[in-house]
Amino acid sequence: MTVIYPKVALIGLGLIAGSMAHGMRRAGLATEIRGYARSAETRGIAAEIGLVDTVCDTVEAAVRDADLVVLCVPVGAMGSVAAQIAPVLKPGAVVTDVGSVKAAVIEAVAPHIPEGVHFIPGHPLAGTEHSGPRSGFAELFDNKWCILVPVEGSDAEEVAKLRTYWEQLGSNVDVMDPAHHDLVLAVTSHAPHLIAYTMVGVADDLRRVTDSEVIKYSAAGFRDFTRIAASDPTMWRDVFLTNKAATLEILGRFTEELFALQRAIRTEDGDHLHDYFTRTRAIRRGIIDAGQDTDAPDFGRVPLTKTKAPAE
Ligand code: NAP
Repeated sequence: MTVIYPKVALIGLGLIAGSMAHGMRRAGLATEIRGYARSAETRGIAAEIGLVDTVCDTVEAAVRDADLVVLCVPVGAMGSVAAQIAPVLKPGAVVTDVGSVKAAVIEAVAPHIPEGVHFIPGHPLAGTEHSGPRSGFAELFDNKWCILVPVEGSDAEEVAKLRTYWEQLGSNVDVMDPAHHDLVLAVTSHAPHLIAYTMVGVADDLRRVTDSEVIKYSAAGFRDFTRIAASDPTMWRDVFLTNKAATLEILGRFTEELFALQRAIRTEDGDHLHDYFTRTRAIRRGIIDAGQDTDAPDFGRVPLTKTKAPAE
């Protein structure tokens, strides 16, 4: 595989950075991968498991001489990290990020990028509910989308190189403008996460009424919400605070639809419900046909071996 960026610096060493490190090693994409995380604990774990070639004690040491710098911290921390690394960035280097929101990251990071350094924001649409330096794996990006969001004046040749790099990591790549990215992600990721958080919160309140039945019978549908609602609280707090307008727009529409369904139940309008569910079922089919999920029953989960029922 062609090495586009010999020296890569990963700032933040969690799920996404870890998966990039594993993916780069799998494909032989770099001659040196350096990493930095703010806490000594994370740096210690990264060094212990050999997540990157060099774990640096300062962010400056990690980015100095790097050909590619990837910001893998929560969206709300991107601006301060950019300000810190700006003075030591190598001329001609590429700075990208993996943040789940794009307009706010561009606003926070772009002003710090020095002349002669290329800033090309990005967002791999791949993740799990796990976080931290032990959670990454090389296959995370395989056949998933990575969206590149070039800023005004982004060099087309540099964008093309970054596209190839993500393809080498296993991704399919698309290019979007920031506002469109944020709206699409509000529909496909941000609003669904908020709805899952809400549903799990409601069930948690009800648990006090139903004892442990919510947990015991969770496989009836609730369990799939709990997976999403177990996602990292810092990351998701930042997503909602920085993609406010698009998320509120989608939640407004969601509420209207919810009221319409509520009314259909109240008025016993079975046709409305049946038509609605027929339409949504087709969307699931589309996701499977696009290779973005498995057709296996129950998401391909291995059947559980008999476990102890929770205390009642
Ligand atoms: P993660 O596993 O929680 O790792 C986050 C890393 O950022 C950790 O190394 C953490 O350092 C560091 N960090 C946290 N707060 C910081 C701060 N205020 N200043 C400097 N560093 C800080 O997170 P992740 O899932 O890899 O997410 C990283 C980025 O990818 C986020 O912007 C997220 O929006 C985006 N993303 C996530 C997913 C997903 O599903 N998880 C998918 C696509 C994109 P310590 O460990 O030392 O605290």
